[in-house]
Amino acid sequence: MSNALRELVASARALVEELAEEGIEAFPRTAAIPAPAAAPRTESRPAPTPPETARATTFSERPSLDEVRSVLGDCTRCRLSEGRTQIVFGDGNPHAAIVFVGEGPGEQEDLRGIPFCGRAGELLTSMIEKGMGIPRSEVYICNVVKCRPPGNRTPLPDEVTACRPFLDGQIQAIGPRVIVALGKPAASLLLGRDVAITKIRGTWHAYHGIPVMPTFHPAYVLRQYTPENRRLVWEDLKAALAKARER
Ligand code: SF4
Repeated sequence: MSNALRELVASARALVEELAEEGIEAFPRTAAIPAPAAAPRTESRPAPTPPETARATTFSERPSLDEVRSVLGDCTRCRLSEGRTQIVFGDGNPHAAIVFVGEGPGEQEDLRGIPFCGRAGELLTSMIEKGMGIPRSEVYICNVVKCRPPGNRTPLPDEVTACRPFLDGQIQAIGPRVIVALGKPAASLLLGRDVAITKIRGTWHAYHGIPVMPTFHPAYVLRQYTPENRRLVWEDLKAALAKARER
């Protein structure tokens, strides 16, 4: 036997022994040739955990809110998970005719796990209950991102992108008649372009065929608590309510 042949046989024997240690005893004749870089996998070795960003964010065609929440899980798909106390998913009627979408949870929301439960939330609740004349529990309220941005900063584009499927899923699940976008980030996301809220508030738009009414965020109204701003928001909410009640 030539030296070259001896070396070849020795290499083959070493390979067979290595594969045996990995629990591989035979290959079917039709087995595909593994890619050179792929390491052999054994039953005892768990598959590597995919990064969160690669995890499923798809739902059934008309998911329930529970399904969307379940796919969201204990999400770490973006850096906002690092500073949150808890995920603030959404609150209200799962069959609501009107969905309010804000920007992201603030301090109180992060602590209590309920969207719009701080000062801005009190104003929103008052606008819904006293202004529109319906209980808050009749509408659904959620945010573009489900975790509090540090210092209440505006969510960054990659954070919005990471969280967006869950807002889409919530809207799919509820199937509202009207969406009220509270402030620029929510309006920009739903309309698919950067908008100036002062220019587009009070005008109708659409998100996948659902009428969208952009209006000022209650936090802005609190900062600029003028009769004029309160009147404008009130007009927007009246229009949203009328649209939701159209036959
Ligand atoms: S903001 Fe959304 S995508 Fe980011 S960690 Fe929280 S739930 Fe996940």
